[in-house]
Amino acid sequence: MKIAIAGCGFAGLSTAWHLLEYPSVSVTLFDPKGIGEGASGVSTGLLHPFPGKLGLKSWQSDAGMKATLDLIGRLEEMEGIPLADRSGILRLALTQEQEEDFQENCDLSCEWWPRERVLETIPDAAPKPAMWIPQGTVVYSKRYLAALWKACEKKGALFCQEEVSGPYDVLVWAVGSDILGHVPLPLQVSRGQTLLCRWPKALPCALLSNGHLTPTEFPDLCQIGSTYENPESPLDPKRALELKERAVLFYPPAQDFEVVSIGVGSRIARDRGYRPIVAKTGPKTWVFAGLGSRGLLYHAWLGKALAEAIVQGYEGLRPEELYKSLRIS
Ligand SMILES: Cc1cc2nc3c(=O)[nH]c(=O)nc-3n(C[C@H](O)[C@H](O)[C@H](O)COP(=O)(O)OP(=O)(O)OC[C@H]3O[C@@H](n4cnc5c(N)ncnc54)[C@H](O)[C@@H]3O)c2cc1C
Repeated sequence: MKIAIAGCGFAGLSTAWHLLEYPSVSVTLFDPKGIGEGASGVSTGLLHPFPGKLGLKSWQSDAGMKATLDLIGRLEEMEGIPLADRSGILRLALTQEQEEDFQENCDLSCEWWPRERVLETIPDAAPKPAMWIPQGTVVYSKRYLAALWKACEKKGALFCQEEVSGPYDVLVWAVGSDILGHVPLPLQVSRGQTLLCRWPKALPCALLSNGHLTPTEFPDLCQIGSTYENPESPLDPKRALELKERAVLFYPPAQDFEVVSIGVGSRIARDRGYRPIVAKTGPKTWVFAGLGSRGLLYHAWLGKALAEAIVQGYEGLRPEELYKSLRIS
């Protein structure tokens, strides 16, 4: 079976990796911009089950975490270098409302820390209580994307830096926010900016609050992210610089971080809810889109499900069911 995949971000590469587990399949990836040049390449790498304002555990997050961590682990074995920081994520509650929400949503996979415990761990942090997420991971996105592509290439994948061209038996659209140009889906795009900064000393874990502060693969550099902007408004780097002011509220030493560069990307999510869309949209065509701010949580698990659906001829979704996500128990 000849499969073409349009888009080389988390979604396209994960689908390729899982498809290539089947000997009957050949995969060609297409992306005019190159590998990891979309939102995936600017992602600040947060991977944990409690994204979203309220800190509610996300749909199928155990399956999502497991699939992503398994994939990262396999690639790390192949590459012999770390692709992620597994020091955990501390989610500080800055307001009384957050304190109530986070405490209520803390389950057995996380702990509720009083401010004293927070300050014992990070003395310079804002004196606030927090949700401690030990399995919280920060993926080194660019390095991970490069490793994932290398692994796909080893398994026989081809890459063309151009628009998709045939012939193929199946085409997968995994084009991130550009999906709107191809298929009318109920999705919303938002632009995000991040700051790459130099910090004097790495923290013992990632911090998440009103914004976030994450380590990178380089010990002297961290990332502060990220904004949610209207993609139609003119790009304003001042918005990105406001991120530093927000970080100061939960980690005051961020005030003195030197900004090295600004990253920009567009995420796309359902206009209501956050479950990504994996759907068959025509006899030969599938769409994998709408990963929103949970790309790392869902790309591996849903990429595997999509690969299975394609190879095993799953016909559960007809084009008229386009707007429904693939049901996976
Ligand atoms: C600033 C920012 C920070 C983020 N931080 C996090 C985070 O901490 N944790 C997290 O889980 N998620 C995060 N996200 C979200 C995450 O990055 C996305 O969910 C994820 O990257 C989506 O992956 P994708 O493969 O669907 O899209 P993309 O990575 O955008 O990839 C789509 C690719 O398709 C290509 N393409 C477009 N049109 C065509 C075409 N016609 N033919 C072929 N190729 C085409 C593009 O060039 C692009 O490379 C963040 C996003 C942004 C913008």
